[in-house]
Amino acid sequence: MNLNCFVPQQREDETVEEIEVTLEEIKAINFVDVEGLKYKKCAKKMKLSVNELQYIIINARKKIGRALTEGRVIRIIEEQPIKTLCKFRCAVCGEIYNIDYTKNEIICPLCFSKEIMTNKEAGFCNM
Ligand SMILES: [Zn+2]
Repeated sequence: MNLNCFVPQQREDETVEEIEVTLEEIKAINFVDVEGLKYKKCAKKMKLSVNELQYIIINARKKIGRALTEGRVIRIIEEQPIKTLCKFRCAVCGEIYNIDYTKNEIICPLCFSKEIMTNKEAGFCNM
């Protein structure tokens, strides 16, 4: 695979937003939908859990479907894999939330507190 974007031949409106699909999503679609790999095998190959793979595939199909039906450019971007999602518990209100710590500021979505507990401190761990 050597691509960085997919452009529809006729673009009705050049200002229509591009749809960003990650390299990981493209790989997953390639393995599962093009090569016909089973989820389990593909997940192993991509070092993901089956759940994570399912999530990626659903997202990718939705985005690609939208690009096709809305005539949008698909921009293929490299993004940190979903593994960078991390669970935090708010030290103030107790809300548990996922944050991509490579991108987002760690802040509680409920009470906007920046005081957090990590998995270990809060005594839960399922990542
Ligand atoms: Zn909170």
